[in-house]
Amino acid sequence: MTNIIFFGPPGAGKGTQAKILSSFLKLPHLSTGDILRSKIKLQDSLALKVKEIIASGKLVPDEILNEIVSDKLIKDCNQGFILDGYPRTLEQGIFLDNFLETNDLKIDFIFDIFLEYKILEKRIINRSKEENREDDNKNILMTRFEEYKLTTQKITEHYEIKYRNKYFKIDGNNEISKITSEIKKIIGNTWFS
Ligand code: AMP
Repeated sequence: MTNIIFFGPPGAGKGTQAKILSSFLKLPHLSTGDILRSKIKLQDSLALKVKEIIASGKLVPDEILNEIVSDKLIKDCNQGFILDGYPRTLEQGIFLDNFLETNDLKIDFIFDIFLEYKILEKRIINRSKEENREDDNKNILMTRFEEYKLTTQKITEHYEIKYRNKYFKIDGNNEISKITSEIKKIIGNTWFS
């Protein structure tokens, strides 16, 4: 069983790397952004609320995220998981820590991807042409990046201290394949050392 978390600002490439690693390690990829976007398609009252929040670049309430993630972890992740986009707030971090402890689970790797804002902006604008996401534009990116800086990055620091030898900073300015090689090398070095 292997449990992995990806951290990093919007557009850092968390989803790309999580997807590659998911097929390489045969582990489920839990992208909370993807899960929320698929929930929007249900078009019920919750979906409308979530759609509005995502379009504004703000964060969806913790209770919704905690329920979604714990449900998925119980149902689909008995071989492990790759979390992408969760936890994003202190409350989510505390919820996850309690969930892991209660279920006797541990984190094996945390990859925190960092990169320059100018590159993020360029990537988000390129992605908006391919994926047609309402929140992929310059203005909303600023709100999303602020949420990251003010909230998510703070809990990233908590994880950096708590999981000192499981936590790895990854340079997201590099090419996709180079980043993947670096991540695989870290996993290989840990497993085979
Ligand atoms: P992402 O695809 O990870 O960039 O997420 C897109 C949007 O979904 C975010 O800007 C938030 O509005 C929402 N979202 C995704 N994950 C979370 C989370 N863990 N907590 C709160 N909101 C989230």
